[in-house]
Amino acid sequence: MTAAAADSARFLIVGPQGSGKGTQGVLVAEAFGVPQIATGDIFRANVAEGTELGKRVQAIIEAGDLVSDELTSELVRDRLRQPDAASGFLLDGYPRNRSQVEHLDEFLAGRDEHLDAVLELVVPRDESISRLRHRALEQGRTDDTEEVIANRLAIYERETAPILDVYRPRDIVVPIDGVGTLAEVTSRIFAALASRGLVPRHPGAAA
Ligand code: AMP
Repeated sequence: MTAAAADSARFLIVGPQGSGKGTQGVLVAEAFGVPQIATGDIFRANVAEGTELGKRVQAIIEAGDLVSDELTSELVRDRLRQPDAASGFLLDGYPRNRSQVEHLDEFLAGRDEHLDAVLELVVPRDESISRLRHRALEQGRTDDTEEVIANRLAIYERETAPILDVYRPRDIVVPIDGVGTLAEVTSRIFAALASRGLVPRHPGAAA
């Protein structure tokens, strides 16, 4: 059977900081022709532009803590209502805890939508830490200091990893070994999605 191009592509990518989910998420989103919606990027852009939202969240982000569920969920709901997200999206960095999962479930159910796949990038802790240290040197992000990295990974393990337990019974979690070159991990992702009948509309972008 040849899988048809997916007519809806609603994805979530989950993985510890430094797992490469931002980079891989962009590639998946491009291939499926859907917007990548990364809450961390949206917050950082607001901080950089000095918006009201940016001023409210700056200190929280710099400490590596989580912005409130209400504020984050409202931001995501507004973004998902934009026309470009009508037939699909790739969420990166949201939901990040069980309460945000409930918010998202409620929002999607109200539109008769559901997630098609939750991509779980599996990367051991030591590997994430060494990649984050490397990124700190390259990009100089204010939340990539040693102390903040440790806080963000602890929050990931305590609050974010458990959301996979909510999604697993729905049979939408797709675990991906995240150790390897960028291209190796990318091809694992597309192979795993294809085995579930999720085939990009723009396969060229997946190469
Ligand atoms: P990220 O780039 O995804 O690691 O996000 C950077 C920072 O933005 C996080 O450390 C949080 O302070 C904030 N943030 C991003 N997404 C969320 C979310 N879903 N809930 C709460 N805070 C978030």
